[in-house]
Amino acid sequence: SSYNDKDFSFRVNGGTGRVPVGVGRKRMRIVVTGGAGFVGSHLVDKLIKRGDDVIVIDNFFTGRKENVKHHFGNPRFELIRHDVVEPILLEVDQIYHLACPASPVHYKYNPTNVMGTLNMLGLAKRIGARFLLTSTSEVYGDPLEHPQKETYWGHVNPIGVRSCYDEGKRTAETLTMDYHRGANVEVRIARIFNTYGPRMCLDDGRVVSNFVAQAIRKQPMTVYGDGKQTRSFQFVSDLVDGLVALMEGEHIGPFNLGNPGEFTMLELAGVVKEVIDPSATIEFKANTADDPHKRKPDISKAKELLNWEPKISLQEGLPLMVNDFRNRILNEDEGKGN
Ligand code: NAD
Ligand code: UDP
Ligand code: UDP
Repeated sequence: SSYNDKDFSFRVNGGTGRVPVGVGRKRMRIVVTGGAGFVGSHLVDKLIKRGDDVIVIDNFFTGRKENVKHHFGNPRFELIRHDVVEPILLEVDQIYHLACPASPVHYKYNPTNVMGTLNMLGLAKRIGARFLLTSTSEVYGDPLEHPQKETYWGHVNPIGVRSCYDEGKRTAETLTMDYHRGANVEVRIARIFNTYGPRMCLDDGRVVSNFVAQAIRKQPMTVYGDGKQTRSFQFVSDLVDGLVALMEGEHIGPFNLGNPGEFTMLELAGVVKEVIDPSATIEFKANTADDPHKRKPDISKAKELLNWEPKISLQEGLPLMVNDFRNRILNEDEGKGN
């Protein structure tokens, strides 16, 4: 298969790959909320590998113990089952706040973005920790400016089906800046564009996971609407590098973190067909309400101030998730007794 462990540098297993903390940098205690999720677990891998102490807070709403189980038994790793909507007391240096029901099928049900962010900011204020919010390109809504710069204020329907997520993250950004201005909390804001990779939720309805899973299951790829809407897809290791560069840097943000390559959903289906299964087919389905027509990050700010830009193209990144998806789909089928 085209999946190559060596290319995927964030896969570490318990006993290997750890690098001691470099000279001149003290070992840090870091909380990652949502650390058992897709992005969070890759971030945890990087922080542990770097030599820091990591505490994951997760309620397993969409995350899985599986994603971090290779760290079980490592004394520098701790996993707490906790809902960030409830207060918590900890002593740490940095807080990466990722906890959030992150896809349309999940995010409708949860006040995490507001209450969870407030609690983590309250925690950061009390202990003097640096706080990083993972916001989203969804704050730009169905954008009237293209590509989107951080200065764009967005075009969001406040009462639509997606608004719990969009407006939730916009509120989270507001709270973050209020705690910065009002309580001197050191903050960082990342606006993340569509990200994909191994450990992505299989059934949360995101387009990349849907197409890849469908191609593996030999089902038609479901293209919503006319398939001419565009998105930019970033491989997860690029995002994790950006999040760490932002946390360690001197700039608050917000920063767009995304891959500026822009693809229509039909083009994405074409790439999946090309790199995963040449016999894959497509099927058109009705689109969902308020679906943004296009989205593409302007990343000049992150390039200039964080010295960051994505390195992995869609053609390179998609094959890196195939083995993980194939294994999980296989396990699922076995679980059903098929
Ligand atoms: P994910 O669903 O895999 O991870 C979210 C994690 O948060 C899960 O482990 C879940 O169990 C946990 N969680 C949810 N609610 C919680 C709560 N109340 N208390 C404790 N834990 C809770 O999603 P992801 O793609 O890894 O997203 C991580 C972050 O990045 C989210 O904040 C998301 O909004 C943001 N983001 C992701 C993308 C993307 O394309 N993946 C794009 C934009 C923004
Ligand atoms: N909080 C928390 N852990 C802490 C400190 C605060 O979970 O270590 C929560 C706290 O319960 C509150 C929120 O963070 O709900 C905001 O705290 P802050 O002190 O800013 O506000 P206040 O409690 O004064 O309203
Ligand atoms: N989409 C699609 N087929 C699917 C799932 C999604 O064509 O099986 C489309 C969806 O309509 C949207 C785009 O893919 O235009 C991206 O959807 P996703 O939910 O992955 O991300 P977001 O809309 O949050 O950017």
